[in-house]
Amino acid sequence: MQIPGHIDPVTTGTVPLRGGNRIDLVGLTRDAIGGVLVEAGLDAKAAKLRAKQIWHWIYHRGVTDFEAMTDIAKAMRPWLTDRFIIGRPTVREAQVSSDGTRKWLLAAADGQEYEMVFIPDADRGTLCVSSQVGCTLNCRFCHTGTMRLVRNLGAGEIVGQVLLARDALGEWPKGTMAGFGADPEDEDADEDAAGHYTADGRMLTNIVMMGMGEPLYNFEEVKGALKIVMDGDGLALSKRRITLSTSGVVPMMARAGEEIGVNLAVSLHAVSKEIRDEIVPLNRKYGIEQLLQACADYPGANNARRITFEYVMLKDKNDSNDDARELVRLIKQYNLPAKVNLIPFNPWPGAPYECSSPERVRAFSNLIFKAGISAPVRTPRGRDIMAACGQLKSAATKPTRAELDRIAEEKQAALG
Ligand code: SAH
Ligand code: SF4
Repeated sequence: MQIPGHIDPVTTGTVPLRGGNRIDLVGLTRDAIGGVLVEAGLDAKAAKLRAKQIWHWIYHRGVTDFEAMTDIAKAMRPWLTDRFIIGRPTVREAQVSSDGTRKWLLAAADGQEYEMVFIPDADRGTLCVSSQVGCTLNCRFCHTGTMRLVRNLGAGEIVGQVLLARDALGEWPKGTMAGFGADPEDEDADEDAAGHYTADGRMLTNIVMMGMGEPLYNFEEVKGALKIVMDGDGLALSKRRITLSTSGVVPMMARAGEEIGVNLAVSLHAVSKEIRDEIVPLNRKYGIEQLLQACADYPGANNARRITFEYVMLKDKNDSNDDARELVRLIKQYNLPAKVNLIPFNPWPGAPYECSSPERVRAFSNLIFKAGISAPVRTPRGRDIMAACGQLKSAATKPTRAELDRIAEEKQAALG
């Protein structure tokens, strides 16, 4: 897809197969599942019915084995197993923070690694999902931005993170669901398959596209994955519980609102061209005015569904009272239904910044609150396992300052 002003140098390409020659059904639309069933030899009507059933098993029940699909004829299950798989990312490492935050290092079928984080709270549980291995951008305060290796994740690899989290949290519904009992056309199907399904309270209630990568540089795959996550016969998460964070890929923002429709978070982080150019170099391509105009135009934003501005607190860089006042002025100038999320800078090895003092963060927050705009300070979560915002990086090496500069220069050159 050609995007105006789009400079993403990486493509998704063909997502490698996990099951040898078998096709992984995770990440395909219902129609696409029907399509591969037709290609494998089913007639269109049968394929459509089977696609619907398989979809339900994958996304509502979390099943990974065709043998467990009790409403599919017993004879047909090995036929499916021979041709298809329902894959999961490989877990390379699972860590738990002292605050309960969990981080998984995952590997794709080609060995590429990416991370996913689950943040439990009293009233919600948020899964922080990655959209790329690494990131083509190079925000100076972000660990992910120091990764040289980048590839887009496919829709299956993105939605696979949600499926895996549900597995790990033990959150698939138990029992069977009425209406999805034994196959009426199959005398051989399991007899006890009719239903006593209960949907229990869930830990995983929210999703944020705030892991590794810039989601709007991988638009189609992110959109495909989120459509699956929102599908009513499946994971069924409401768009109000999903937030997509962008560093400001202006040309894709309207489409994100129209075609995906989830909440928007924008990594603003600075209010002057000079500072934002330095810390979020994408600003040299899409400046603050353009970005704020795109926010003002974002479909679906209103006072009930406000845009979140993320603002990382960097000592002596972007944290003065004047910065806070300018932030308020800009939000008012563009008449934005906005809230501000102040993120204390999370350190990583070799990072060129320090976090603002707690007093400075508090004063900054107070100034914004006084102007009538909500500006809570985000409590860092999972810092001890490097799971907090901006700390994700799959190959945990400590680059030298010269290497960091070189990577930044290379990425900048690619941006044009
Ligand atoms: N690429 C997207 C989403 C991922 S980052 C984006 O940039 O918006 C999620 C949030 O964490 C962003 O606001 C990002 O700027 C912020 N962040 C990155 N590094 C950080 C760090 N070291 N400390 C605190 N926040 C950081
Ligand atoms: Fe990429 Fe976001 Fe990190 Fe910037 S903050 S380098 S856009 S992941």
